[in-house]
Amino acid sequence: MNLKSIEPPLLEVMNLNTTFSATGAQIPAVRDVSFTLKKGEVLGIVGESGSGKSVTMRSILGLSRRYGETTGKVLWQGQNLVTMPENKIRQIRGGEIAMIFQEPMTSLNPLLTVGMQIDETLKAHTTMSSPERKKRAIEMLDLVGIPAAASRLSEYPHQFSGGMRQRVMIAIALAARPKLLLADEPTTALDVTIQAQILDLILSLAKDFNMGVILVTHDLGVVAQTCEQVAVMYAGRIVEEGAVRAVLKSPQHPYTVGLMRSVPQNVPPRTPLYSIPGTPPSLLALPNGCAFAPRCPNKTQNCGDARPELQHKNGRALACFNKIEAHDGAAA
Ligand code: ADP
Ligand code: MG
Repeated sequence: MNLKSIEPPLLEVMNLNTTFSATGAQIPAVRDVSFTLKKGEVLGIVGESGSGKSVTMRSILGLSRRYGETTGKVLWQGQNLVTMPENKIRQIRGGEIAMIFQEPMTSLNPLLTVGMQIDETLKAHTTMSSPERKKRAIEMLDLVGIPAAASRLSEYPHQFSGGMRQRVMIAIALAARPKLLLADEPTTALDVTIQAQILDLILSLAKDFNMGVILVTHDLGVVAQTCEQVAVMYAGRIVEEGAVRAVLKSPQHPYTVGLMRSVPQNVPPRTPLYSIPGTPPSLLALPNGCAFAPRCPNKTQNCGDARPELQHKNGRALACFNKIEAHDGAAA
């Protein structure tokens, strides 16, 4: 029997909603998002810019509270992070659950040495002694592939290159041995070759530490190479979800098919890249029916009238009235 299947989930997100109120208008950035993550599992969240991926990540850690209202449940070790008081959730943030962002300079403190920043995390989230913390800091820089780790502890973030800074951020994030890593487009700002190195690094460390990972990306190619499960988001909602192999083999949502077509594959140089026609809807003026309908090649009358609910079947989930049949998806 597969033991993993009877283990309780590491993280359970249920009906997560985050709404921002700006200048009197309500912005429904995340709507009814639910998923579970098992221990050691890597889940990809993919979607175009503005689809609510970052707000979902931030809402899990209670970081959207200041700007908006979050409802629903984020169950972590039997507790709901959505209603957890700020002083308690602060102990989990950066400790049991770590987060890394697209732009390292916004989360690294330019005024503190790298060594001090790793030490701060360890002081806040572990009971390690000062010599133990120093040893762990060197070990972490070494682990993320920073040469001459011991001598670089006393350097400041600006003394590192872009790729090295991203490694430093990973070292800080993972120093306290989190059980879950939220990685929000961690490689988008980097060169393609460095992107691959950093992704490999995150995944091999995740394996070593048996850490769950949620990897946010706008690139389905990245998901294909790195994740076991995938959730596709559109206009604040999950529209398709399942095992990566199954979803990429036979995508059922026309939006997923569009995203797949946007990934360059074996194309000759200077071939124009496919992009899904049209643009995502404004969250302030969402259509009555399916939010993707105005751009959808498969839409029918029904799609403009009612919004398809996310339906679960055989380990997959889909919110679409006119699902793509397997042969269409393979051809796309
Ligand atoms: P992405 O999928 O690109 O990560 P985001 O989750 O950042 O998208 O954003 C989803 C939507 O929420 C966007 O329309 C964005 O403008 C809006 N949004 C994000 N943060 C705020 C905020 N603090 N106040 C108002 N709107 C916000
Ligand atoms: Mg984002």
